Amino acid sequence: MSDFEDYHRYQKHLLLPQIGRRGQARLRESAAVVIGCGGLGCTLAVYLVRSGVGRVVLVDRDCVELDNLHRQILFTEEDVVQGRPKAVAAAEHLRRANSEVEIIALVEDVSGDNVEEIVQKGDLVLDGTDNFETRYLLNDACLKHRLPWIYAGVVATTGMVMSIIPGKTPCFRCFLPQPPAPGEVPTCESVGVWGPQVGLIASFQVSEGLKILLGREDDLLAGLATFDIWSGEWEIFSVEKDPDCPACSQGDYEYLRKGLLRMTTLCGQEAIQVLPQQKRQLDLAALAKRLQTQGKVTVNDYLVRLQMPPYEFYVFQDGRAIVKGTTEEKTARRLLAKYIGL
Ligand SMILES: [Zn+2]
Repeated sequence: MSDFEDYHRYQKHLLLPQIGRRGQARLRESAAVVIGCGGLGCTLAVYLVRSGVGRVVLVDRDCVELDNLHRQILFTEEDVVQGRPKAVAAAEHLRRANSEVEIIALVEDVSGDNVEEIVQKGDLVLDGTDNFETRYLLNDACLKHRLPWIYAGVVATTGMVMSIIPGKTPCFRCFLPQPPAPGEVPTCESVGVWGPQVGLIASFQVSEGLKILLGREDDLLAGLATFDIWSGEWEIFSVEKDPDCPACSQGDYEYLRKGLLRMTTLCGQEAIQVLPQQKRQLDLAALAKRLQTQGKVTVNDYLVRLQMPPYEFYVFQDGRAIVKGTTEEKTARRLLAKYIGL
């Protein structure tokens, strides 16, 4: 793109003293990784791409569904019909908004096996996940590779954001030493989530992220910021660095070390994810053909979906599968063996 077009595209950024030409050039040289393309991830991706961050990596393991659309602003009904992976759908929609940005879509489950490789694809990592286990893993991986990351969480009409800069700020384990027990904290599944609240939190989160890419870390809000868009209440809590924190004080990356995360239940859904013993390359077209008699089959470059009420199966190219309609791992494995042959 010519300087002239560039000038027009980012003109309103260039007017801002916090950005200007130098800041805009910095964004172009930067890369950001978004983990999870749900409600938060959609809004994060929108602003990263439209702001002209040079490379944006979108990572998500799931497909677009009807009950996502009220808050996951990038997706369409067509994406639901086609069973498109969220990372791929998000990337395709955003390429039309800014063709100058390199957008990489990874249809992958973030686990101990791949988290280090994934976070190193960017200068900044943004948390769009829906579970604590992945956040502890991100915390370890980002501390180890000295990458800034920004935690965010949303439930009902409230939410929170915290920036973590290795060597500078407290880390996620300083704030929350152990994951809460199941059922201890409300989730989107148990109490719902207010669409505009997701947008508010993600906007705040991506703004903090852009500050980091612009080299303006001193302008970050220190600590844990909480907002409630319904009541209008907001607060910033200071978080103290724990001198005994295993992760940021002692450099013991417990979650990476244990290779945790072979997660099976998917947060917020009546669904089970089943990971293959070892990765393989499935012939999706052949699989789709074989399943024709079982129910309604959809196939695309990334997966085969079999709809067979009350169950729905998603089989990805590397052998990973998601079974919807059950929360029992045993049932999911039995159904996969019976109907898919996995
Ligand atoms: Zn710490």
